[in-house]
Amino acid sequence: MFNYVFLFFILGLVIGSFLNVCIFRLPRRESVVFPPSHCPLCQTKLIPRDLLPLFSYLWLKGRCRYCQGRISWRYPAVELLTGLLFMVLYVHFGLNLWLVKYLILTVLLIVISFIDLEHYLIPDQLILLMLGTGILLNFFTRELPIISILWGVLVPAGLLFLLATLSKGGMGGGDVKLAGAAGFFLGWPQSLLALFLASFLGSIFGLILLTFHLKKRKDPLPFAPFLSGGIILTVFFGQALLKWYFSQW
Ligand SMILES: [Zn+2]
Repeated sequence: MFNYVFLFFILGLVIGSFLNVCIFRLPRRESVVFPPSHCPLCQTKLIPRDLLPLFSYLWLKGRCRYCQGRISWRYPAVELLTGLLFMVLYVHFGLNLWLVKYLILTVLLIVISFIDLEHYLIPDQLILLMLGTGILLNFFTRELPIISILWGVLVPAGLLFLLATLSKGGMGGGDVKLAGAAGFFLGWPQSLLALFLASFLGSIFGLILLTFHLKKRKDPLPFAPFLSGGIILTVFFGQALLKWYFSQW
């Protein structure tokens, strides 16, 4: 058991390192496999000891070995986050198809969130990948009935679409698509719970930013990281939260 926990942490670190490449290159329309990793500042091709997830960053104190340029905090953060999530997903689900399903969901959400944080957009190709894998994985796990997926996709996407139309630009089309795509993984009513949790997280975070004058009221706040947070929380606590909620009636 312990060995597997550690193994999944390391696997997450390594995959997180690849996700960093995707986060940097996908919005710039570059290939994620070619050319090999290089420093974005001095373009020097990196060798394996520069590419050890997390450890290279700590060892080099966050600077490029060649040009001494500062490496973004995003690199170790994405690696650590992926490592930790892989580890807790394994502990929560054990070795089975569900684990595969939620590992893939997590990977997609991390890439989408960090691209949205930096560029305020969600690439359509990632939404399509999410739709495709969601449908395919459900075919194998047979976890969700069609009707559950249908409601799970339409209700959250419909609500966000309404909000996007009313707010005129506060909420983007990418957020609507992401909320819908999550329905393929979560089903009904979990996907609505995810949206509720996301709004809750977003409001709290927004209030903190406003209180400490870190952002102005008009500044855009990317919603995908909160939506992803809501989705991940639902993966872990959705059943328990819904059970508690319905027992209150
Ligand atoms: Zn460099």
